[in-house]
Amino acid sequence: MRRTCVFVLLTVLSLNLFAQRTVLHCGKLIDVKDKKVLENVSVIVEGNKITEIRNGFVTEGAKVIDLKGKYVMPGLMDMHVHMESETKKGAVADRFTMNLQDIAFESIKYADATLMAGFTTVRDLGGSGVNVSLRNAIHKGTVVGPRIFTAGKSIATTGGHADPTNGYRKNLMGDPGPGEGVINGVDDARKAVRQRYKDGSDLIKITATGGVLSQAKDASGAQFTEEEIKTIVETAKDYGFKVAAHAHGAEGMKRAIRAGVTSIEHGTFMDDEAIALFKKHGTWFVPTIIAGKSTADSAKNPGYYSDIVTPKALAVGPKIQATFTRAYKAGVKIAFGTDAGVFMHGKNGKEFFYMVEGGMPAMEAIRSATVSAAELLGMSDALGTIERGKIADIIAVDDDPLKDISVMEKVTFVMKDGVVYKNK
Ligand SMILES: [Zn+2]
Repeated sequence: MRRTCVFVLLTVLSLNLFAQRTVLHCGKLIDVKDKKVLENVSVIVEGNKITEIRNGFVTEGAKVIDLKGKYVMPGLMDMHVHMESETKKGAVADRFTMNLQDIAFESIKYADATLMAGFTTVRDLGGSGVNVSLRNAIHKGTVVGPRIFTAGKSIATTGGHADPTNGYRKNLMGDPGPGEGVINGVDDARKAVRQRYKDGSDLIKITATGGVLSQAKDASGAQFTEEEIKTIVETAKDYGFKVAAHAHGAEGMKRAIRAGVTSIEHGTFMDDEAIALFKKHGTWFVPTIIAGKSTADSAKNPGYYSDIVTPKALAVGPKIQATFTRAYKAGVKIAFGTDAGVFMHGKNGKEFFYMVEGGMPAMEAIRSATVSAAELLGMSDALGTIERGKIADIIAVDDDPLKDISVMEKVTFVMKDGVVYKNK
């Protein structure tokens, strides 16, 4: 008994010694849960957790961080990024010149830019698998970046969006299979999901329709059978994976929703039937308005994309914002996502502006990147709000984002996992 008491005492003492206690003095705290702004509150952080929120500015011998002049809110969460690459003119040649090691070094820069923009958590929806190593390196503290939930390599069908050899010369094309994320039929579908599990992915991404930036003609047609998607969703459940489905065209979108995917990415040509299915199945919509606008802009620059990509970027890109407006008005569940990499990493915050321009109130836009994103990830217990017991992911801006949403592009304070990465 006495030995137990001594042990408990030592444990308590060591916790006090090692869990650093920090108090954030917040002039304004945006309460995304109750949709209101609190004034003059202290957020107490111990180790990587939020332990208390108190009225007034308390000190209690802890390290104080003065955010009295700022608007404080939960760390932002982008549900659609690609940490391995960034848009540039003629990038298609990189597929033949860059080694995985080169990609890895580049991704370090992108991870840093993302975190400094206030995005403390992201979903990486497809790369070569370097994204799995990047997640691990950030988790270990080797590299600075956001908390990553990664799909590893996306799953496509032969010739479909994310078939890694699309557009290659015939003798280089080969015939990639489930290992490379290319499937045909239900057996391949099961194997591809299991391979992602083996690779260390956190979730599954499929390309349910054609896409804009692949070296193939069609940007919107369905590319999986419904049976294949069902098999992917069922197998994914065995491993605790959620499934994100890229979809521009309505038919592929509907197949994916009926098959039970968790989220639809882009959603460009969503029709009324698709909207009804979203609502019936509780499927999330991740709009990526900024990706549409920036690819359409880049396509106006001659030679920026290949000849097969340019017309698709011009046709698809400008349509996403209007779809977003319709989906929001119809009551579809929306989580924030940008497709960063398709435009410059660190500019993710511009999506807020486009969402508000598209008719969503600023508070709702901020909620889409906090509470809603956490719900989509299945991480509501740990992320998405500033509440007792949650992980200390906290950011701040200098002006009121509810009055001027563009301040979300100028994040001046970033804490992730209880560690301050930016404060100016
Ligand atoms: Zn994407």
